[in-house]
Amino acid sequence: MSFVMPKYIVTIGLEVHAQLTTRSKMFCGCAVAYGEEPNTLTCPTCLGLPGALPVLNEAAIEKTILTGLMLGCSIPPVVKWDRKNYFYPDMPKNYQITQFDLPLCLEGGVPLYDLAYPKDAQKSIANPGKIVQLTRIHLEEDVAKSTHHDKFTTIDFNRAGTPLMEIVSEPDLASAEEAFAYLTSLRQILVYGGVSDADMEKGQMRCDVNISVRPEGQEQLGAKIELKNLNSMSAVRRAIKFESERQIDCLERGEKLIQSTRRWDDDRGETTLMRTKEDAHDYRYFPDPDLLPLRTPDIVARVRPLVPELPHEKRSRFESEYGCSAYDAGVLASDKQLAAWYEAAVGADPAVPAKKVANWVINDLLGALKDTEGGLAACAVQPAQLSALAAAVEAGKISNSQAKEVFAEMMASGAEPAAIIKSKGFEQVSDSGALEAIVDQILAANPDKVAEVKGGNDKAMNWFTGQAMKASQGKANPKMVTEIVRRKVLG
Ligand code: ZN
Ligand code: MN
Repeated sequence: MSFVMPKYIVTIGLEVHAQLTTRSKMFCGCAVAYGEEPNTLTCPTCLGLPGALPVLNEAAIEKTILTGLMLGCSIPPVVKWDRKNYFYPDMPKNYQITQFDLPLCLEGGVPLYDLAYPKDAQKSIANPGKIVQLTRIHLEEDVAKSTHHDKFTTIDFNRAGTPLMEIVSEPDLASAEEAFAYLTSLRQILVYGGVSDADMEKGQMRCDVNISVRPEGQEQLGAKIELKNLNSMSAVRRAIKFESERQIDCLERGEKLIQSTRRWDDDRGETTLMRTKEDAHDYRYFPDPDLLPLRTPDIVARVRPLVPELPHEKRSRFESEYGCSAYDAGVLASDKQLAAWYEAAVGADPAVPAKKVANWVINDLLGALKDTEGGLAACAVQPAQLSALAAAVEAGKISNSQAKEVFAEMMASGAEPAAIIKSKGFEQVSDSGALEAIVDQILAANPDKVAEVKGGNDKAMNWFTGQAMKASQGKANPKMVTEIVRRKVLG
């Protein structure tokens, strides 16, 4: 007797909060900065003191609209801000200013690219080229930062009022791996647009996950269960894996899942119940009477020219324009600075094949940067210098293995490749007079081998090349030596 296990469909939606790279806060002139003395970057507005009035931050609105344009969203002609009412010590005015029914961006999508998946999942991507549909993007303010100690809690209001963009996806993701790829791809685009640094490990991007499970064949989504407090890429992946398996186990046991919010415990690797729907907040949203609705068409017209070439566009251009493989193009375009560095190196000398430059950047430069503090920005080697090194190999001036040695020295000292080649004595002897003298000597000393070459023995020809290389301590240009031997012996 055998049982057929019922299959389950996992459906995931993500709500991502990303801090914008503005200089000042969302509704006041206080600076946005990290690591400052606590509670020094504050004013009556961001402290929520009675009577203080908010003023919209134009740069934050522009950056959110730019995000929307990069992600193919539509921008409603009129938007507004609303009060979301709740009390929590990190929000002393008792409401958060956010956007309820007229957000800045609607719909759009995030294209997932192969290299954005976790490394161990890149070989088995269920849905290559998937575009995750978005519901909306709205612009709101961050709350203060609470730090819980043993017997008390401290609150730092430097973060209160920081512009926060909330990117809400449709329940359009099917696995922990897709969620991981979504966050990686999204981050890349935000960084490309200069709208957010979006580093989860630094708290610049935070993520809530909605996850539901239903038996295959059931049309309606299962109960929506929300996971809070996910603040690293690995936590997102592990939490989704744990929670979807937990929900499937519940259904297997015949239990009913109910809409609820759960907390992820990263140390224990499990989720625990925070609250069910019955004790959910009623936020009593209403339009903020201190802020007028905003017309967007003029801002959209101003921002549209700022939309950069996006990662997926750069990838396909690198393939078509430079002949990069899909993998190489993916690596190069994954980082805006790296892509610019590569293009500068390619542009430095059009005679060096762009594909060869890509090899140097991906295999050698990135490899060396792993052990270098400060990454590409602090790199001792300039694009034109790498191009010059690749050109020396192309021209047959130095061998590949010599070039690797030169490169290591370039990374260490920042010296010009030509100078290092010279100081290491790698310069190949391409002076035909000097090479002829070497060849003449060898020919005179080995009449039997000369006879073999005359008899059509290619091996003997190679032997002469080898001897000449030896006699020149490896500096002879092998191609030239072969030509000279051929000319002198065969005429
Ligand atoms: Zn302030
Ligand atoms: Mn929010």
